[in-house]
Amino acid sequence: MYINLQTPIDYLKGVGPNRADLLRKELGIHTYQDLINLFPNRYLDRTRYYKINDLQRNTAEVQIIGVVTGFKELPQKRGKLLVATLKDDTGAMDLVWFRGHKWIRESIKLNTKYVVFGKTNWFNGVFNMPHPEMELLDDHENNLRSAMQPIYPSTEKLTNKGITNRVVNNIMQQLFLETKGKFVETLSEPLLNELKLTSKSEALFNIHFPKNQELLAKAQFRLKFEEFFYIQLQLIMKNLIHKSKIKGFTFENVGNYFNTFFKDLLPFDLTTAQKRVIKEIRADLGSNAQMNRLLQGDVGSGKTIVALMSMLIALDNDFQACLMAPTEILSVQHYNSLYEICKQLNISIKLLTGSSTTLERREIHQSLENGELQILIGTHALLEDKVKFKNLGLAIIDEQHRFGVAQRSKLWKKNTSPPHILIMTATPIPRTLAMSVYGDLDISIIDELPPGRQPVKTVHRYDKNRLKVFRFIKDEIKKGRQVYIVYPLIQESETMDYKDLMDGYASIERDFPKPEYQISIVHGKMKAADKDYEMQRFVRGETQIMVATTVIEVGVNVPNASVIVIESAERFGLSQLHQLRGRVGRGAEQSYCILMTGHKLSNDSKIRLETMTRTNDGFEIAEVDLRLRGPGDIMGTQQSGVLNLRIADVVKDKDILQSARYYAKNILNSDPSLSRPEHKPILNTYKQLSKYKNIWNYIS
Ligand code: ADP
Ligand code: MG
Repeated sequence: MYINLQTPIDYLKGVGPNRADLLRKELGIHTYQDLINLFPNRYLDRTRYYKINDLQRNTAEVQIIGVVTGFKELPQKRGKLLVATLKDDTGAMDLVWFRGHKWIRESIKLNTKYVVFGKTNWFNGVFNMPHPEMELLDDHENNLRSAMQPIYPSTEKLTNKGITNRVVNNIMQQLFLETKGKFVETLSEPLLNELKLTSKSEALFNIHFPKNQELLAKAQFRLKFEEFFYIQLQLIMKNLIHKSKIKGFTFENVGNYFNTFFKDLLPFDLTTAQKRVIKEIRADLGSNAQMNRLLQGDVGSGKTIVALMSMLIALDNDFQACLMAPTEILSVQHYNSLYEICKQLNISIKLLTGSSTTLERREIHQSLENGELQILIGTHALLEDKVKFKNLGLAIIDEQHRFGVAQRSKLWKKNTSPPHILIMTATPIPRTLAMSVYGDLDISIIDELPPGRQPVKTVHRYDKNRLKVFRFIKDEIKKGRQVYIVYPLIQESETMDYKDLMDGYASIERDFPKPEYQISIVHGKMKAADKDYEMQRFVRGETQIMVATTVIEVGVNVPNASVIVIESAERFGLSQLHQLRGRVGRGAEQSYCILMTGHKLSNDSKIRLETMTRTNDGFEIAEVDLRLRGPGDIMGTQQSGVLNLRIADVVKDKDILQSARYYAKNILNSDPSLSRPEHKPILNTYKQLSKYKNIWNYIS
């Protein structure tokens, strides 16, 4: 039969229907190709041979060449122990078996050289190795699997059904025999030369049967590069296709609204980063491609003004704009901060949320459809079918991580032609991760805070020092400041958290008695209207202390609040802590973040607390977070497909990722359709990988 890589795994010698079934179910291996791409998780280094007198009491797994000179049986409490003496030219040690004695005595040849492999123990002045792996030296030398021993991903079921690591290794050898180890090259000649990459065939051979560390490292590099390269190629391609296929509105004019605002109403000088980002957005809006841009900026970096100025450009071109935020409180805040400016510019702006009345809604719907309404701010309510724009030119989404991709595309459909889309997020995503996940979006970054902002001072305090912390809070309140005290809210134990919050509230009421102190409380079990009422009291300065669960996490702006106390800080994730800290440090005063914890802390918690007290840089914090939690957790399950990498790791291999992106970009810049002869291998691989064959046809 003619074998190719799409041949079902059942046909491989040594596999058969039962094993094939297991491989399919347990590891998703259907074809020869799938099996080749089952890369080992790790390797046992069997390039080194130990002498018996080299053994240390703490040496882990070792291999030794020696001969078995004899057996003896030692009676135990239950059953017997089989002990063999293994000798080399430096000494002797014991090999030990608890079971299978008969078979071992029959199969092991005395006074013949073996390679034994296993963990050693030290007992009664002698080293011993229980249940060693043994292989005749002659076989060992002729075997593909002689050097670095690959350990393959497995499952309990596979092992139980006899598909051990060794079996996988054997069928892998069989596969290489049947295919003669020849695999189609997937990268171009120039790329291989420039980066000195090993060929595909060599890389695959060495990933499965490496003779030494160096060859393994080369193979790993090549395969990681390739993996990132094709992800990036697909993302960049998608972006390019998007730009050429999906025409956006071209906003040619920067007109009256924008200029008047810039000249007369801008309350401060823009930071360099804000200017740069506005320029990037302007360039997008002025080209004839639809914008899909992600704007990242730490809390307080001034994204709102960027949003406003972008909307003004849309309005200057006679289009409407909308701004969507994840919560009612945030929408109201945006609305309030933009309302005054819009009034001065004679721009009509409205707010639409879940609490808008039927009458308000009717007016909004009507004025949107006839084009009178220019800017609409709101929550998810904007996505309702009844909300129809006359000509929506720009849609902005704030705090994107609360919205899914599905919602993004829903905004798209609000028009005959898709509006430009700007997504703003204050949860910094490490650049490397952003690249691999959002490679199809363009990214702008505000990496600078407005001037005069004092960085928040962050400290870690243990619960037993609470009185001191309370004294400090009282001093701050005396100076006229306001304080947040935050309790964790974790879904699984909502009732417990609620109790913690209420206990905390009771004790705070005792320590901060009325009428000297006024306290607000906001938590998840309250009705939206009640929450809002309490928030507003705090915003207006009628209460000095806001006791809350993490509902205040995102976006609220109370510049007079100078202290945030985070209770049970060890229970919060890093990005959450950073978001919470962003609630203070918004005014001119020195602000403080106090992380309260108990005494017992896990290692990860210690790292989180240390990171928070060391730095205010959201990107640095995001990098640590990524290392602690892994990319899947950070991005949620939504994008896990992109992150489901076979061999590369966005954290450990970020340099390779960057290089892969660089080359993918370069190649597509110089040859967008990959039609040059030297790019043939790339084109073929891309076509094979790409599910978007129809889109491909469209541009080629
Ligand atoms: P975020 O990026 O978190 O949404 P905001 O847009 O709410 O930040 O801005 C935070 C605060 O900083 C606001 O009070 C805003 O008016 C102010 N601000 C924004 N840009 C500047 C600037 N260039 N100079 C001074 N203050 C600024
Ligand atoms: Mg904001």
